[in-house]
Amino acid sequence: MLDYHAQMTKKNELTEAMQITGILALEDNYIWIITQGNTTLIIDPSEGSPIINWLEKARRLPSAVLITHNHHDHIGGIAALQQHYDNLLVYAHQKTKLAFTTLPLVIDTHVKINDIELQILDLSGHTPDQIGYYLPQAKALFCGDALFAGGCGRLFNGGTAAQMTATLARIANLTADTHMYCAHEYTLANLRFAQICEPNNHAIHERLQKTIVSRQQGLATVPSLLCDELATNPFLRTETPALHQAIDAIAGFQTTYTIERFTQLRAWKDRLDATGILEIAA
Ligand SMILES: [Zn+2]
Repeated sequence: MLDYHAQMTKKNELTEAMQITGILALEDNYIWIITQGNTTLIIDPSEGSPIINWLEKARRLPSAVLITHNHHDHIGGIAALQQHYDNLLVYAHQKTKLAFTTLPLVIDTHVKINDIELQILDLSGHTPDQIGYYLPQAKALFCGDALFAGGCGRLFNGGTAAQMTATLARIANLTADTHMYCAHEYTLANLRFAQICEPNNHAIHERLQKTIVSRQQGLATVPSLLCDELATNPFLRTETPALHQAIDAIAGFQTTYTIERFTQLRAWKDRLDATGILEIAA
């Protein structure tokens, strides 16, 4: 379990009583816990035991679980939590199919649990009904597998390139100081790909070097700031001339639309992921 709450509160100017804690679970999943007063919200519990351990140590009871989408590494801990805590509420998008009962959420509305209010954003594409939770007072977006530091999620379960392109545009339109609380530690491989896409982008080079050092020290690279994503994440940069050119070169034709460029870029990353070349140790 990696608890780097102290490190994060330095980065994120939260209200005095509110805190966001990251717990590392499975191989590279982050479970996010928001606490304020007696309220404790758990986002995407991939595993039960690290959360139960954390809650017992912190002498807290969970108020609710919020899920972004129904992949196993985001909901795998819910059964254990429900067994341990009676009547634990679980929130999910109204269209998300799950084996257990949930409270249904609607896009572009908000959910209020005690004093914590979260806005529900449409972040579809990784799955057809993925959502994100935006916490205004922390300028925090819990984005599941839609956006990663330096990258984005793959398309699964019928999620489309059109959905993902719209989702990325929606994220890019948030204020530049928004913290991106994504659900995996994939930053190093993502930035290696970013550097292949844009070898002359100095911001990518610098962020990659910093990430190599952080990972060697076992530190998390999440959350990231949207301004850094806009400067270095190729999936938010398909309209910049250098990346547009690189995508056209790899596609072998002149792309016209953002959605085409996203599709070619995603396919390029998927091909490199399949070779394992981006995962080589620093
Ligand atoms: Zn997923």
